[in-house]
Amino acid sequence: TTLSVASILSESAIRHADRPAVFYNGEAITYRELWDQTRAYAGALRARGVGRGDRVAIMIPNVPDFPRVYYAVLALGAIVVPIHLLLKAEEISRMLHDAGADLFIASATSLAEAAPAAAEAGVPLVTVLLPTEAPGDFARLEVEAAAAEPIRRIEPTGPLDAATILFTSGTTGTPKGAVGSHLSIVEQVHAGLIDGVQVSNQDVTFGGLPLFHTFGQTSVLNMAFRAGSAVILMPRFDGDQALELMVKHQATVFVGVPTMYVGLVEAARRTDARPPLRFANSGGAALPVALLEAFEQAFGVPPHEGYGLTETAPTVTVNTFGKPTIAGTVGETLWGVEVAIADPDVEDRIDLIEDDGVLGEIVVRGHNVFKGYVGREEATKEAVVDGWFRTGDLGTYTEGILTIVDRKKDMILRSGYNVYPTEVEAALARHPKVAASAVFGVDDEVKGQEIHAAVLPREGAEIDPDDIIEFAKEHVASYKYPRFVHIVEELPLGASGKILKRELQRMYTPA
Ligand code: ATP
Repeated sequence: TTLSVASILSESAIRHADRPAVFYNGEAITYRELWDQTRAYAGALRARGVGRGDRVAIMIPNVPDFPRVYYAVLALGAIVVPIHLLLKAEEISRMLHDAGADLFIASATSLAEAAPAAAEAGVPLVTVLLPTEAPGDFARLEVEAAAAEPIRRIEPTGPLDAATILFTSGTTGTPKGAVGSHLSIVEQVHAGLIDGVQVSNQDVTFGGLPLFHTFGQTSVLNMAFRAGSAVILMPRFDGDQALELMVKHQATVFVGVPTMYVGLVEAARRTDARPPLRFANSGGAALPVALLEAFEQAFGVPPHEGYGLTETAPTVTVNTFGKPTIAGTVGETLWGVEVAIADPDVEDRIDLIEDDGVLGEIVVRGHNVFKGYVGREEATKEAVVDGWFRTGDLGTYTEGILTIVDRKKDMILRSGYNVYPTEVEAALARHPKVAASAVFGVDDEVKGQEIHAAVLPREGAEIDPDDIIEFAKEHVASYKYPRFVHIVEELPLGASGKILKRELQRMYTPA
């Protein structure tokens, strides 16, 4: 049997031929045009010898070349290895090395870091989007595509063949490259379209999530393309610009991480213009209930929160489409995905806790679970135990509804008490002057760890740190409230839009 993620685009090129596939920079590209351009790129890559099982790293922002190159690589039966934007040469070359990349395709905007990384890792480099007049002697995919014969059909691949090597966000440490199959992505797309988002070819999906990350790739690009929905491509998220684009292209579906919801809610205070949204989905980090409510008030739809990881392609659970979203929970399992709660302290085996509602580590089984981390056998062995994937997240599972409590690594142990930052952040989100916050532990000689909070005020709001401490005292138990509050102008974000607590810890740990 054969199954290929590339058919998501090739088949929509028939079914939805003249409908817009992407909106970018004020222009529309139809499905047929996009597939023709993809076939040309694939022809150029084939002429370079790229074929089944080869690993092609790509470093391209959210521009039309991302889908062109992504599906071209997959159409040849090769494996796509997206590299996170914003990384430095050293980090890129480590990823190229880990993934065993055979070729590296980087956009002109990334060349300053990508070129030295390719040289260091000994991987041939091809560019896209290089302006004609730009200096440098780089091979150019556009030029090679013009001279090559476009491919006619997709190279057959088996369902369990590797399709992608996707790096985790690096929120807690060095990103790890998770190998995912064609089946895992296609199943995610189909199950997601039934239970998660239900996008159709009448929809316009906002694509502000980075496409190099599993969330943007599966839940925006592949799901929208499978359904024939147009995708608005935005290379760098900014709340005001996102809102403007969504109004201009009449977006009906928004998918994003909570920091994007913060940006949109803030932007909505500055203008009355609204897109005709009918559905919103949040994931990647905890969505405070107060933020969910603020978004619903501003945009008329409540975000449906889901939970996922790079290792699970990504969705594990989601608040099912067409049902009221249960605020504060991440909903029900996606079809074919199994969730259980295990004893977090038992390391070498999986000790399932069968009683409903007991706090423990979330473990996952299903076709969506990755095949392993490239170049990291030890980490793979620790992550996949007795056939279950250990997520490193703590939560409860009650009557089929999952609630995330926090990451195991983010739990603060203060004077012998466990404090879960997400709960404290949810309380701070209720403060009228707080746009967003991050609560984290800092090593402390006396308490073991001390509770700190970095607080981002709403635009124009002046906040006194003592007010925040008083507010927190009123809303959470006395062992949980932050003892130190830092008012910040911005929170440090990783490339996938998540708050980097390890950066905050570094900043606020006394020397
Ligand atoms: P790294 O593994 O490199 O430290 P990361 O864990 O952020 O980075 P991802 O695969 O992007 O890598 O994210 C998965 C994690 O995101 C989950 O383990 C979980 O901690 C968090 N997450 C995802 N969705 C939610 C959610 N709805 N609520 C709370 N946390 C979430």
